[in-house]
Amino acid sequence: MGCTHLSGMPELPEVEVCRRALDEFFAGREVVAVEISDIWAAQLGKAGIDFGHRAPMKAGVDGSQGLVGRTVERVGRRGKFYWFELAPLNSSGEGTVSVVEGHLRMTGGWWLKPAGADWPQDERFANGFPDKYCHARILLDDGSEAIYRDVRRFGTLKLHTEEQHSQRLAAWGLDPLHTTWRFKRFLQAVSGSRRELKSLLLDQSRVAGLGNIYVSEICHLARIDPRRKSDTLGEDEWRRIFDATAPLLRESARVGGTRLTELDDLTYIHEPQLHLDNFEVRLRVYGREGGRCLRRGCTGEIERAVQQNRSTFLCPTCQS
Ligand SMILES: [Zn+2]
Repeated sequence: MGCTHLSGMPELPEVEVCRRALDEFFAGREVVAVEISDIWAAQLGKAGIDFGHRAPMKAGVDGSQGLVGRTVERVGRRGKFYWFELAPLNSSGEGTVSVVEGHLRMTGGWWLKPAGADWPQDERFANGFPDKYCHARILLDDGSEAIYRDVRRFGTLKLHTEEQHSQRLAAWGLDPLHTTWRFKRFLQAVSGSRRELKSLLLDQSRVAGLGNIYVSEICHLARIDPRRKSDTLGEDEWRRIFDATAPLLRESARVGGTRLTELDDLTYIHEPQLHLDNFEVRLRVYGREGGRCLRRGCTGEIERAVQQNRSTFLCPTCQS
């Protein structure tokens, strides 16, 4: 029996893959012990996040302190954020922690080890595993263990009360895989902006979960140039974007998310040297500069453009 490794998950499908694995692993389990690395605890503390020093503490009767003794009910997600929902306690108050919210950022990932399994022992970890990049270790009541590893340490974990979590939910935009994803709501979310289409679709308070890769893919599927000003798009064009989005993300999540190990400038987000899985999404435009457009009947060539200092890929022949 081996352990499951989830790493480099910057956009919605990758976080959804992570959420599912965490949900399967954590749901119904009680936290027995939590260890946080000193360096990460200090870094989070400087950013005003108390997870580092509180999480290893006992929960306390009203759940106002740490995580030890708390049971995880399920793992949820909105956009690129995921969260552990904790089972309610008999006694609760204003300070009761009800959610642990996480964001993987660039290099965050989880290693999940069932009871009786071993951590990896091979050449990828010259100094053994867990190594110095493992910053949180959570032991569960069935003997299973989870480790949060983050080479660049941009990722976060936070303890939130019910009220704080509600405020977060209200601030996030529409999630294309959520039941609220409806064309009318989408039109409302993207209206009233003159920004370039790509920049608008990346705005997490409007649509939650899209990043650099999937915005290029969606615009190609919808045959729209991502450099267009948003207020020049007609309803039929928004409809094409809406229709392309959820199926693409759902399919990506189904096969396991993207893996961009072959792109030099993006290898940092995927820790490719540590990648254990073989899943890969076929990208139509992203990273394919100079390649032939994959749209049937189109003879165009994929171009790379730069928007807000980041790469955009498009086919100028069939996207307008
Ligand atoms: Zn084309």
